[in-house]
Amino acid sequence: MKASQFLFATLKETPSDADIASSQLMVRAGLIRKIASGLYIWLPMGLRVLQKVERIVREEMQNIGAQEVLMPMTQPAELWQMTGRFNDYGPELLRFKDRHDRDFVLGPTHEEVITNLAQGELRSYKQLPITFFQIQNKFRDEIRPRFGVMRAREFTMKDAYSFHVDQASLAKTYDEMYDAYTRIFTRLGLDFRAVQADTGSIGGFASHEFHVLADSGEDDIAFSDSSDYAANVELAESISTAERQPATKPREDVFTENMPTCEAVAEYLNIPLANTAKTLIVQGHTAEGEPQLIAVVLRGDHTLNTIKAEKIEEANVPLTMATEEELKAAGLHKGYIGVELDMPVFVDRAAAALSDFVSGANVVNKHTTGMNWERDARITRVVDIRNVNEGDPSPDGKGLLQIKRGIEVGHIFQLGDKYSQAMNCNVSGENGKPVTLMMGCYGIGVSRIIAAAIEQNNDENGIMWPPTPNVNDSLAPFEVAIVPMKSKEETVMVTATALYNELKAQGVNVLLDDRNERPGVKFADLELIGIPHRIVVSDRNLAEDKYEYVNRRDSEKQLLSRDEVLAKVT
Ligand code: ATP
Ligand code: MG
Ligand code: MG
Ligand code: MG
Repeated sequence: MKASQFLFATLKETPSDADIASSQLMVRAGLIRKIASGLYIWLPMGLRVLQKVERIVREEMQNIGAQEVLMPMTQPAELWQMTGRFNDYGPELLRFKDRHDRDFVLGPTHEEVITNLAQGELRSYKQLPITFFQIQNKFRDEIRPRFGVMRAREFTMKDAYSFHVDQASLAKTYDEMYDAYTRIFTRLGLDFRAVQADTGSIGGFASHEFHVLADSGEDDIAFSDSSDYAANVELAESISTAERQPATKPREDVFTENMPTCEAVAEYLNIPLANTAKTLIVQGHTAEGEPQLIAVVLRGDHTLNTIKAEKIEEANVPLTMATEEELKAAGLHKGYIGVELDMPVFVDRAAAALSDFVSGANVVNKHTTGMNWERDARITRVVDIRNVNEGDPSPDGKGLLQIKRGIEVGHIFQLGDKYSQAMNCNVSGENGKPVTLMMGCYGIGVSRIIAAAIEQNNDENGIMWPPTPNVNDSLAPFEVAIVPMKSKEETVMVTATALYNELKAQGVNVLLDDRNERPGVKFADLELIGIPHRIVVSDRNLAEDKYEYVNRRDSEKQLLSRDEVLAKVT
């Protein structure tokens, strides 16, 4: 590419509304332009980077056999009504009517559409497991769009969905996705951690987030490099630490009649009614002694409200309070709520039941799953994750905990049958009987990755793209820039152009900076954009058959022969 013919939209001044390093640099380097809050144009320079991320993500999805589809961003409300999310999703879901007064939404995610597709297209267990993915724009009416494309309203996501006849198959694909995500973020040269995570409004069984470590991140994650433990601090505690204890019958309920009122619960726990909610993790195990996580989602400022017994019944979750001794034994301080489920432990059910204790808990799942767990699972530990502190030993006894800020760039979930149940998505099983499908869903913030990469890689002169293990995976919009210095002779331009053509022929992503600008302006632009290699061609150096070479990361000038220069950049 010749720079004179390419849109260089660099800015000297930092835009007043760009709030963190990456959003400032992306605007200044001419990668993006804002058109309204949370809405951005990708300029040619930025789109090159976005497409590079897409390519790596696409390759790794194809590698694990996922099939690409492309679904519309605009979705009929009927599908969202079937799963209940048309009402439950909250104001991030943009709802609107068409000219015929029909309801539509702009997709913040595509579970409904893909489940509807699977319902229509999949017939037999022989077609499973199957995984679809797309790279497509999502719309979420974020309450506070900020940090440029990091928290935008319209953004690019890779979302994948898998379908299975049973949990074992789901778990296998989930693990393959986990590994594919690990390869993607490794190939991108990012310093990241996979952590256990909350399943949020999507609900489900298991969930991991992938976080790029950066101070501007909005999550706290706790991990230790000498152990496998890693969790989003809003969640915490690894399943692997669950103490295996023999199953016991559920204890007698401390509240013998019906469901206790919240007042009774509060009195029992001796806590004020207007309680600042805590996030707790509850671990239990199945009757076979298998550790199993019961996630409990209590967040923000909640007020205890009256328990609605019928709702809990509907959720099919018998709910009892833990004894005071048990709470103490679990290290639970007064003021926290302990719960025990005498049913097998489903994250979404536990959370659904809890949402009736606590107003505002962001939980909507009330379905029954098709899984056949043994009864009598009970809580073995209740952990207040706010007690997780930097420097604490790890929960699994290996290493000391670090707590760092993370940017969530990926999130994988085992959904169970929430969507397939609601949308009647089944196939005929091995014995000819219909089987409701199990599902997984897997997201990557494709556009957010770029902001996250820049947060991790920048200096006072601008962007530095992450050092990727394979140079072909580099995110830089151009890998090499050739800068011909002004000259009365034609030799400089001829030599620079010949070098440019040679690199181009070798498949190098090279830019010839033939703009009519002072060298200082060009150098500043190239540094701002983060072009990894700069080669300057000048009369003076050509006289000695040399080229000036500068790497963006060490900015030390080196005088090199043509072969040495070629060796640096090919
Ligand atoms: P967050 O906690 O940051 O709001 P999320 O948990 O709501 O993200 P998911 O539903 O897990 O997001 O979506 C999958 C991925 O999409 C996220 O891991 C993130 O990388 C990306 N993403 C989510 N919201 C945005 C946004 N507003 N702008 C850019 N990327 C986003
Ligand atoms: Mg969100
Ligand atoms: Mg999140
Ligand atoms: Mg998420």
